[in-house]
Amino acid sequence: MRLEETLLQTAKELGFDNYQVIDTAALHFDERFRMYCETNYCGNYDNNYSCPPACGEAKELGDKARAFERALVLQTITPVKDITNDSETKEIKRRHNQMTWSLIESVAGEVGEYLPAMAGPCQICSPCAKELGKDCPFPQKRASCLSAFCVKVDALAEYCKIPYYCEGEVAFFSILFFQQK
Ligand code: SF4
Repeated sequence: MRLEETLLQTAKELGFDNYQVIDTAALHFDERFRMYCETNYCGNYDNNYSCPPACGEAKELGDKARAFERALVLQTITPVKDITNDSETKEIKRRHNQMTWSLIESVAGEVGEYLPAMAGPCQICSPCAKELGKDCPFPQKRASCLSAFCVKVDALAEYCKIPYYCEGEVAFFSILFFQQK
């Protein structure tokens, strides 16, 4: 099976609601999005190694992503009781990211280099070692979120013809940039 077929088949088996392989060139990056990170609404700014400023400049992350020609877009759509309830949406996001890591573990032997962009910051440790002033124990496992990459997710949804906003549900996205072995 071709690599891209394997990626799509694995995404299907893992239960993603939408999955597509696109050209990375189809993505829009807007470095001005960093100002939203800086407002620190999510509380992760300067508190998580996968977030700004520790993750690197927007251009740096964008350049890393653009170095890959192809990207697997992954989406889950999950019913939510209260979209304003952070603990509820955080748990759904954690599940989405765990599914993304499961996919990566399943296909790691078949892809060459890869770079994940997740639905939120790295959640491996709680709290992140950055908050404690310690070194990250899992630098190879940490991944930044689509916001840190400054990906325009609404434009991505439109390009892929998949939902961006869903009434009564929450849609999370992640991207696996990859290259052939
Ligand atoms: S692995 Fe732990 S310390 Fe490293 S970025 Fe993730 S949460 Fe922070």
